[in-house]
Amino acid sequence: MTSKKRYDSTMTEHISTSLVARSLSAVWHPCSQMKHYQTFPLLAITHAQGVWLYDDQGRRLLDTVSSWWVNLFGHCNPRINAAIVEQLNTLEHVMLAGFTHAPVVELSERLRELAPAGLGHCFYGSDGASATEIALKMSAHFWRNSGKPTKTNFISLQNSYHGETLGALSVTDVALFRDEYGALVRQQATVPSPDTRLAAAGESAEAFALRCADALEQHLQQHHAQLAAFIVEPLVQGAAGMGMYHPVYLTRARELCDQYHVHLIADEIAVGMGRTGTLFACEQAGISPDFLCLSKGITGGYLPLSVVMTREEIYLAFYADQTARGFLHSHSYTGNPLACRAALATLDIFAQDNVIVENRRKATFLNQITQPLREHPAVKNWRNTGMIWAFEVQSPHTDFAQRCFALALQHELLLRPIGNTIYFMPPYSISEAEMTLLVERTLQLVEELSV
Ligand SMILES: *Cc1c(COP(=O)(O)O)cnc(C)c1O
Repeated sequence: MTSKKRYDSTMTEHISTSLVARSLSAVWHPCSQMKHYQTFPLLAITHAQGVWLYDDQGRRLLDTVSSWWVNLFGHCNPRINAAIVEQLNTLEHVMLAGFTHAPVVELSERLRELAPAGLGHCFYGSDGASATEIALKMSAHFWRNSGKPTKTNFISLQNSYHGETLGALSVTDVALFRDEYGALVRQQATVPSPDTRLAAAGESAEAFALRCADALEQHLQQHHAQLAAFIVEPLVQGAAGMGMYHPVYLTRARELCDQYHVHLIADEIAVGMGRTGTLFACEQAGISPDFLCLSKGITGGYLPLSVVMTREEIYLAFYADQTARGFLHSHSYTGNPLACRAALATLDIFAQDNVIVENRRKATFLNQITQPLREHPAVKNWRNTGMIWAFEVQSPHTDFAQRCFALALQHELLLRPIGNTIYFMPPYSISEAEMTLLVERTLQLVEELSV
């Protein structure tokens, strides 16, 4: 299982293996140009344990991206496995319209206790994008039910990412998506991002965040009569390349949204569940949003589930005799019991293992051992928030991301750079030995890629 066999860069041997060949024939892979798999490695994973993925060639890879930011406590975690198996033998699924069950009730109660104050009502979806859709629809419908039907627009940050369905794309600022799908989308306005990388030379992160909040205020002043909500990724703009910013931006955004009667939607799909060093990123700004979107890590990375949490006042605006005033939205697997049980097991681990405190210790350790990497001349903008680390690499290669991914495989690392940005977002269960391996091998990789 821990064979030292290394990946060869052409991967021809790999493409001839049956699982990969069959996949390329029958499976249309997400977020991919399928033709690139002629030269770009596709990996067939047969099993996984802790931070390690094992492929059909008997090779191992350290999952530094937590399988697209979802895994929290390692693959094949015995406690989450046991919880799912127990639920499986009791109730695998029942529809949530007109029915309820213990896992969804317990999860909603636990989340209400843990979330920022006032978020007492949980509405479930199946993935992150559906949580974004729910929050946007619920916000606009709230204003309509409250006699303000003109409030149907939204704003998001420049370089924002909130998912890829058409509604979510309308508040997502990614050039490629805008170019290809713009005609299908009612694209919404953006306001300047407080991403510290964009600050002026010598300007502090805090001063820059406040300057961006001023720009937000100007926009709100002009457009609030048409605006339903401002949607934001708290503290870290993930898909923008782990753009991190000062929490004062969120504190100001909360004040301004209150002042101009615009909802604040916190998309904590990536940053929630402890990723930024607190259970929810909003805590670091001392704020409570009107809508809190969670997904990804909520089931520990096991099963698709998302939830939008909201306030009593918003819930009550829908509570009436007429059907049309109710929130008209559903998905077949809304509140699936297996997924809710996985989420409950995940919350148990947070409590039993004192995860937030333990993660701080791990982050301190990783920061100590990264000094040689941080000081490498090709490494720029080193940054860290909680259990996320990121930096840009100065490299002559225009195909940096693909080249880095392929080369990292030879070092037993699964790294998935965003442009020239390398990031670490490992499962919280990563050990000190595994962190050391990660940092040493990444340093070698940076050496190889910077020339
Ligand atoms: C991943 C992500 C989404 C979309 O979630 P999916 O489950 O991929 O649809 C939305 N917002 C943020 C911030 C994300 O990171």
